[in-house]
Amino acid sequence: MSKGLPKRSENYSEWYNELVKRADLAENSAVRGCMVIKPYGFSIWEKMQRALDDMFKETGHTNAYFPLFVPKSLFEAEEKNAEGFAKECAVVTHYRLKSDPNNPGKLMVDPEAKLEEELVVRPTSEAIIWNTYKNWIQSHRDLPILINQWANVVRWEMRTRMFLRTAEFLWQEGHTAHATEKEAMDETKQMLDVYATFVEEWMSVPVIKGFKTANERFAGAEETLCIEAMMQDGKALQAGTSHFLGQNFAKAFDVKFQNKEGKLEHVWGTSWGVSTRLMGALIMAHSDDLGLVLPPKLAPIHVVIVPIYKGDEDLEAIKAVIMPIVKELKSLGITVKFDDNDAYRPGWKFAEYELKGVPLRMAVGMRDLQNGVIELARRDTLTKETRPIEGIATYIKDLLDEIQTAIYQKALNFRQENMFKVDTWAAFEEQIEKGGFLLCHWDGTSETEEKIKELTKATIRCIPLDAVEEEGVCVYSGKPSSKRVVFARAY
Ligand code: AMP
Repeated sequence: MSKGLPKRSENYSEWYNELVKRADLAENSAVRGCMVIKPYGFSIWEKMQRALDDMFKETGHTNAYFPLFVPKSLFEAEEKNAEGFAKECAVVTHYRLKSDPNNPGKLMVDPEAKLEEELVVRPTSEAIIWNTYKNWIQSHRDLPILINQWANVVRWEMRTRMFLRTAEFLWQEGHTAHATEKEAMDETKQMLDVYATFVEEWMSVPVIKGFKTANERFAGAEETLCIEAMMQDGKALQAGTSHFLGQNFAKAFDVKFQNKEGKLEHVWGTSWGVSTRLMGALIMAHSDDLGLVLPPKLAPIHVVIVPIYKGDEDLEAIKAVIMPIVKELKSLGITVKFDDNDAYRPGWKFAEYELKGVPLRMAVGMRDLQNGVIELARRDTLTKETRPIEGIATYIKDLLDEIQTAIYQKALNFRQENMFKVDTWAAFEEQIEKGGFLLCHWDGTSETEEKIKELTKATIRCIPLDAVEEEGVCVYSGKPSSKRVVFARAY
């Protein structure tokens, strides 16, 4: 067994990087800032995709696919969006390579194969999609359009970290078009709720729903709604965003419809996305110094069964009792791995499945069999109990539900212990060094927000949707304020 993981308390960032690698989730690739998602990591992402996709379908959306490339002229059409993303764009200028006459065996860009118009590799797809919607929308009968796309996008990020911030990432992007402002705003909020439900109920991570400030808003949006989660080092992670686009893209791409009264109007839009960053959130929110802790709903394996035996005869006796249980567990929708690989010792296997975050481990030895019991170990609490074999499958099913809730509750308790109402600048400076979410009054200006960021690296994560009206003064400027916002350092 290789040496353990770095400890969270000593080097949180090193712990995260090592855990991602050792738990076989992902690794760095030959391409700067781009990762390889390994099978175990991808199977968690697939579970996330499936659950989200079902939720999108339940709320009336369908999937479609649009091109990876956006002609530069289209990309430029919505100015704010273009400006906001310009410095992160990868651009295709040529479409062919040829043999380099001065360098045998090497290739060079063929200068004769220069594109007439450069192609932007999509950092987000509003431009190409709204240019398409123009042809799809003429009348109020063509609305709403409720489309989602599962895709990869490229943002040329300078400081990258696996899952949290990569140059290429996988995501889904919803793009909807509506006849009225209200309908578009309702959609923006609905999708934020879908994200919050997913992150809380599937990932067991509590989130705060809120509005982004103008500074942090998506380029080209009128309003950005977001969900923010707290990681175990007290930092925030933006887990999902839902944008109210107003009529900005409809105006940029001339997308109009004839309303019921026969008048032409611009269409209202939304877009919303979550990415493989959610994998980072899942890892950072729950895992410990021994490895991953996965909520059962997203765990690729729910239960691992490790037989403890001396020879083939013992193994056969164990199998005779265990295989019917495996079958019963499967019939209850539980994913089971029976690990009788004799190349590894049980102790090694225990550590390996802890590293991989398998929620439950069942160990069965000969003496247990004689006594009609097995040993069950919980990954989240690291507790063990001995249970009768009789009725074990239904017991496990209930226990998995309990674990899902317990993991959420633990994360919620942690967040509550690390949220502070802060009312003076001295207290702010002190607390931000310790971490956590700081609930503070803010005067509503970008200048104050920027100043605070410059001084402390803390940003306004969101203005919570459920913020209560309360008279106060800005923690930095002392100017009046009517509600508290959430400040934190963030990933
Ligand atoms: P946006 O289009 O900027 O609102 O981002 C949509 C979603 O993608 C949000 O949940 C972001 O947190 C996430 N995201 C943005 N940039 C990256 C990145 N470089 N790597 C992974 N996820 C990202």
